[in-house]
Amino acid sequence: MEIGGPRRGKHIPVRFWGTRGSVSAPLGHSAVRAKIRDALIAARGRNLSTEEAIDGFIDRDLPFSVSGTFGGNTSCIEIATGGDEHVLCDLGTGLRDFGNHVLARHGPTRPHCFNVFLSHPHWDHIEGFPFFAPAYIAGNRIRIHGCHKNLREALLGQQAVPYFPVPFEFLRATIEFVELEPGVEYQIAGFRVTTFKQSHTGDSYGYRFSRGGKSIVYSTDCEHKAAILDASYPFVEFFRGADLLIFDAMYSLADAVTVKEDWGHSSNIVAVELAQLARVRRLVLFHHEPACDDARIEQVLGETIRYEEISRDGHKVEIVSAYDGLELAV
Ligand SMILES: [Zn+2]
Ligand SMILES: [Zn+2]
Repeated sequence: MEIGGPRRGKHIPVRFWGTRGSVSAPLGHSAVRAKIRDALIAARGRNLSTEEAIDGFIDRDLPFSVSGTFGGNTSCIEIATGGDEHVLCDLGTGLRDFGNHVLARHGPTRPHCFNVFLSHPHWDHIEGFPFFAPAYIAGNRIRIHGCHKNLREALLGQQAVPYFPVPFEFLRATIEFVELEPGVEYQIAGFRVTTFKQSHTGDSYGYRFSRGGKSIVYSTDCEHKAAILDASYPFVEFFRGADLLIFDAMYSLADAVTVKEDWGHSSNIVAVELAQLARVRRLVLFHHEPACDDARIEQVLGETIRYEEISRDGHKVEIVSAYDGLELAV
């Protein structure tokens, strides 16, 4: 289904093409078999004699961890503009599917402008770029924005000998690197864009996109120490009143404060507390730990929703867990 862009309606569609953290995590044979088995067990005794009944059973009666998957692609999010100018956050493996979608929808001859906002050049956030088909087509324009000074070097490096057969210089699209400064407000592709420095090895940057009274914050690969969260914590202002907060909730709180402290990521509980302090409308748990299967991610989502309910202070934060293929209207 095609969701209209903001020029045709007031909503801004946000599409999740890659939601896994650190490394891609495709479903293997045993995971697929387990889903089929669970679905067949759940179907026993049901009248599923029509296709409609089967669809209804899949969509309404099975948990998402059985009927679907959170997916295995690394970070890539599209904020739709409704035109030929695109806005993307990060270039993880989900970018390959996005590029193929654009070509399938519009054909290879129509020129596009892709505005990319990179959180940081860790591999899981750039590794999709060599497989981005529109980069191989003359006439397309790709503008890679970020606050790091080494983004060009990182993207050229991952396509250099001996890592990849096609060097970056052979790409036929016009590719520019645009350095941004934290705290400065930019106007890009119809959005007001600001960036914020985050705590992560080698630094990472969060982005806030605003347009028509709506705000979307993309904040991945950032460690927030639970002990220092209060209303004066600078991220509260950066997240303030966001309609959508896409947040690195890679770990459970127990992991985040024990074995994985200082690993550069945050937890689902910290996500809720920050979203509550900042009066965020909707929180998206993102950058899933590759070791977690679908059942575990679903369990964490359930626990996070319950934690939000019992800790709520007059402001409800809606919580969803990102999956490859998720579309949200902001
Ligand atoms: Zn990452
Ligand atoms: Zn990282």
